[in-house]
Amino acid sequence: MQIYAIEVTSCCNLHCSYCPQPSMQRAKEHIPLTLFEKALDYPFGMDVVVGHLFGEALLHPDLLKITQLCHERGLAFGFSTNTLLLNLVQLEQLIMAGLSWLVISFHTPQAKMWVATLQKTFPELPVFTSSLETKHDWAGQVHSKLVKSFHNQGDCIFHAYNLVTITVQGDILACCLDASGKSRLGSLFDYSPQEFALLNNEIWFELCQQCPLRLVNPTPEYVTLQNMAQQIHHYRQHFLAKPTTSLTLYL
Ligand code: SF4
Ligand code: SF4
Repeated sequence: MQIYAIEVTSCCNLHCSYCPQPSMQRAKEHIPLTLFEKALDYPFGMDVVVGHLFGEALLHPDLLKITQLCHERGLAFGFSTNTLLLNLVQLEQLIMAGLSWLVISFHTPQAKMWVATLQKTFPELPVFTSSLETKHDWAGQVHSKLVKSFHNQGDCIFHAYNLVTITVQGDILACCLDASGKSRLGSLFDYSPQEFALLNNEIWFELCQQCPLRLVNPTPEYVTLQNMAQQIHHYRQHFLAKPTTSLTLYL
């Protein structure tokens, strides 16, 4: 098993009607720094740390330290943001600390403008976009005029490539769809990193029945992730500063 994403925070500063986060019953909180650092002992898919699940990562007060902890371990940290809190000064600090990529999610009109600004200001930084123009219903977790239901067949990349997500509480979940933690396979820390690596994601639960992420052939989607990871590691190798030994540089 490998970690696909770790939830830096389950708090958000938007209430999108097509997202399960606003009505999520799981506690809305920031991941403690100690828990995050401990999680870095476990294997991450393609050595990329995806720092979002259900929340806005820029709300976390220790995001700079989180970024640097990943960088020091050779892990490519990044996250998705709705851009409400984004500013160039903070972003430059994050890049200096080792931020390796960013996803801009289009939930507000200003988000689209940010993409051009970032490409101009930090031309080498891998910036991906999540247009969300076709919104799915999170396997029936959301009911909004803006969503469509896709009941696909086949399987998802989480099962096919043995990936899982980790919540702010440190719980192992089957995938990135499960807002309420119904697929919980225990705590990450119930297992040593070696034991965790030997586990298989064979978790099927109620959301799987109407899951929009099931594909007859999940390989192309995984190849897309591999290509993104390749771009990210190329950036790290050629453009990112070497890790520093002291956090105080950025505090
Ligand atoms: S879609 Fe993103 S920005 Fe909107 S409520 Fe959900 S987590 Fe927050
Ligand atoms: S709901 Fe089930 S099938 Fe869909 S992504 Fe999650 S684990 Fe995979």
